[in-house]
Amino acid sequence: MTTLEVKDLHVSFIDEEEETSKEILKGVNLTIRTGETHAIMGPNGTGKSTLSETIMGNSNYTITQGDILIDGESILDKTVDERARAGLFLAMQYPAEIKGITNAEFIQAAVNARRNEDNPVPVGEFIDELDHSLKILNMSQEMVDRYLNEGFSGGEKKRNEILQMMMIKPKFSILDEIDSGLDIDALQVVSRGVNSMDNKELGTLMITHYQRILNYIKPDFVHVMMGGRIVKTGDSSLAAELENNGYASLRDELGLDI
Ligand code: ADP
Ligand code: MG
Ligand code: MG
Repeated sequence: MTTLEVKDLHVSFIDEEEETSKEILKGVNLTIRTGETHAIMGPNGTGKSTLSETIMGNSNYTITQGDILIDGESILDKTVDERARAGLFLAMQYPAEIKGITNAEFIQAAVNARRNEDNPVPVGEFIDELDHSLKILNMSQEMVDRYLNEGFSGGEKKRNEILQMMMIKPKFSILDEIDSGLDIDALQVVSRGVNSMDNKELGTLMITHYQRILNYIKPDFVHVMMGGRIVKTGDSSLAAELENNGYASLRDELGLDI
């Protein structure tokens, strides 16, 4: 078992040109173990993407306090690449398009980066696994031969993020609004991909605005994030409660001024 721990995390966005600083995360605590699925729900602008980008090592955000640890060891001095090699994966809310590298090449490089340098994945094995994953995700071979995300629709980009995750087999997977913009069929396909992963070896953090995807990917824990903090933690019934009563009602219940 591996543990990912976010401890009293404070993150600011600092605009050097404007000389302004805005605190976005105000003391987030979260512990995820491999084998667990966590969901973070929260209104827009509350810092969910900031949390995922900061865990992954995006240097646009400045950590002013707290720590992020894997098995008790801080990863704050690790680059994005080093964190990926250590087993972190982020499916981004807005995946980038990259010309000049095909999807298949990108995935193969990412898979090999997780392995020993002198032990790259055998090509036959890679192709078999790719075929298998493409089938689960209802994706065509043609999509992996295209440049990374180029010309992909929103839904195809999301599927492609899940394809990368299935192939890379991270220890911790952060899915940032993987459900946004998906119709019900695409949502089911994406969920099938996530659920096909070996659950014991993987810790999942699902970030979502809506409860809908949690009907397909069952969380063990649901956290509500508001105003840059986790204000409530519960089981999956908390998601249903939120869907019925809305965030405003929780804000009132907790007496929050945000
Ligand atoms: P969420 O994902 O919950 O919708 P975000 O983490 O994207 O929230 O944003 C949290 C807050 O941080 C918002 O007020 C947003 O405007 C601000 N923010 C995030 N990224 C930047 C940025 N690059 N520049 C300025 N403000 C930012
Ligand atoms: Mg589980
Ligand atoms: Mg976001």
